[in-house]
Amino acid sequence: MPNPYRLIVPRAVYETLIRHARKDFPAECCGLLAGRFDGANAWAEQYFPLLNVAADPTRRYQADVRSLLAVHQAMRESGWREVAVVHSHPHSPPVPSRTDLAQNAYGDALVHLIVSLRQDPPEVRVWRLLPDRFVPADWTLLDGPGT
Ligand SMILES: [Zn+2]
Repeated sequence: MPNPYRLIVPRAVYETLIRHARKDFPAECCGLLAGRFDGANAWAEQYFPLLNVAADPTRRYQADVRSLLAVHQAMRESGWREVAVVHSHPHSPPVPSRTDLAQNAYGDALVHLIVSLRQDPPEVRVWRLLPDRFVPADWTLLDGPGT
């Protein structure tokens, strides 16, 4: 898949992941955005919440393996691919932490969307994670009916 690519998130999908972040507060939430690649664009079609099984879920996230396998199965059946990794920061800005960089299992293949709940409405930013740094990724929140 191409990277850098532009992540496009329809409002309805966006609201789903914000709801998940709020529900799991004060723990970090984690999940995956699934969809399809179209040239340099990645269209998020569905958000799949994952279970955070980190020892201290208020400071870390670690996706439960069983829920991850179930999500991958659902994606295969729908012809979707992962287009972004999602997690929340309950109290800190939506900027990758040192842990996020160290624990990034996806390399530079997928962008990371971070929801910060330290203010209301939540702040969302999207990043490419490189081994030793992170750079902002292109993304669009798509408004409009029926998306
Ligand atoms: Zn983080």
